[in-house]
Amino acid sequence: MAGGSTRLLDDLRRALEVAAGSSGWSVGRPVLADRLRVPVSRPAGARPALELVVEQRSPAAATGGYAEVGGFRLFYAAPRNAPLPPSDSVPVATLMDALVRWLRTSENALAALWTVRRKRGRGGGGAAPRGRSDPRTSRVLEPGYGLEREQILRVEFRCNQRCPFCFVRIRPHRPEWETIRRALDRATGDRPGANIVLSGGEPTLHPELLELVARIRARRPRRLVLQTNAVRLADAGFADRLHAAGVLIHFVSLHSHREETYDRITRTSGQFPKAIRGIRNLLAYADAAVTLNILVNRLNVRSLSGYVRFVGRLRGADGRPPGLFFTVMNDVGLARAPELAVPLETVAPALARAVALCAELGIRVDPFTGECAPPLCVLRDPAPYARKSEDGFRGALYVEPGAEFAPHRRVKRVECRTCRYDAVCVGVSGAYARRFGLEALKPFRGPRLSLHD
Ligand code: SF4
Repeated sequence: MAGGSTRLLDDLRRALEVAAGSSGWSVGRPVLADRLRVPVSRPAGARPALELVVEQRSPAAATGGYAEVGGFRLFYAAPRNAPLPPSDSVPVATLMDALVRWLRTSENALAALWTVRRKRGRGGGGAAPRGRSDPRTSRVLEPGYGLEREQILRVEFRCNQRCPFCFVRIRPHRPEWETIRRALDRATGDRPGANIVLSGGEPTLHPELLELVARIRARRPRRLVLQTNAVRLADAGFADRLHAAGVLIHFVSLHSHREETYDRITRTSGQFPKAIRGIRNLLAYADAAVTLNILVNRLNVRSLSGYVRFVGRLRGADGRPPGLFFTVMNDVGLARAPELAVPLETVAPALARAVALCAELGIRVDPFTGECAPPLCVLRDPAPYARKSEDGFRGALYVEPGAEFAPHRRVKRVECRTCRYDAVCVGVSGAYARRFGLEALKPFRGPRLSLHD
C-alpha cells in the first residue's frame, strides 16, 4: 500500500505541475494526514503561499469551498503567515480545476488509502476531519450597523455567484412568507420608519420579489434598499418592474472592472457584461440612487484607481456617476478566503489614491462604517468619511500586544483611545489582527471627534 500511496500522490503532483505550466508557481509534495494538503509556492523552495486541500466530508463538517467531489470537499487556503504573492498571479482556479479532475478519477483510491491509514492509526491520527460550525449567517433578519437603524432582511439564500468571502450561508432555501412577515413585524414594529435592506443571497432570484416589495412598502419604511449583484437587472423589463414597485435605492456589489478578475472573485463566467448592463439600467432612472460596493482584496487592490475611473464613466440620468462604498473582508471572509486577504499596509496607499480620485471625478464615497469597513487610518484625511451620528460604531476591544481575542471581535490598539477618530472608527476584525497584527493602525492627533459632532 505504501507504494500505491506514493504513486497516487505522485500522479497528483504531476497533474498539478502540468496545470501550473509556465506560471512560475511550484507544486510541492502532497501530504496525506487528516487532510490531503498540497503546498504551492513561488519560487520553488520558498515558503508556501497557498495550500490546496482535500478533506473527507462529514455531516458535521463545513460545506462549501471550491468544489465537492463524491465524499470529498476541496478548498484552498493560505497557511498562517504566508508570504503575499503578487496579485493576479496565482493560478488558483487552474490548479483547483486540475485537482477536481484528478479526484474524479482517483476518488476510490484516495478513500481506500484514508481507510487503511485510519485503521493503522497513522498519518496524524488519520481521523476524519473535525466538525466545524459554519460561521456564515443564516439569519433572515439582522440589524446592520452600516446605516442608521438599518434592518437587513434576507429573503433568498440562493445566489447566482460564489464570492468566497461571502458571510451569508448560501443554500437552496428561501424563507416562508410567515417567517418574512414575522421578521417585518420585528423590523418595523415599534419604529416610526425602519431602514429595510432587502438582501440575500441574491434577492432578485426570489420569484415573488415584486410581491415582497409591495408588502414591505405597505409597512412604510423610511428607506428601502435593494442589495444585489445586478446581474438579473440586465433584463430591462425586470428592472422597470422593480422600479415601478418602488425600489429606488440600490446597493450593488461590483468587485472589479476587469472581467477576468470579476470572474475570479465571483467564481462565475459571462456575468460581468450583465452586471454592467444591470447597473446602467438602474442609473437610467432619474429618481434612483446607486452605490457600488467593492470589497478590496488581493485580486483587485492594485487596480483600484482603474476601477474608480471606470465607475466615473458610468453616468446616470442626471449625469452623475454612482457612489462608492469601499469594504474589506470581515472575520468570516478572512476565515473562508484567507488567500484573498491583504494587509492594511498594502490597502492604505491604494485606497488613499482611489478616494482622492473619487473626489476629482465627483464620485460620492460613502462613510467607512459597518463590519466590513476599513479603519479610518487607511486614509490621510478621513474626516469626510467618518460617520458622525448616534449610530456610530461602539464596542471595539483595545488590546495590548500579545493579548488574546476572538476573531469576530472588532479590535484596536490601546493607543487608539487617544486617536481623534476613535469614536467613529470600527478598527479591524480580530481575525485580521491575528493574521497581520495591529501595527498598521496609526492614531491621529487632535481633539477627539464625538459621535454627535
Ligand atoms: S488609529 Fe485606531 S481609532 Fe484611529 S483611525 Fe486607526 S484604527 Fe481607528
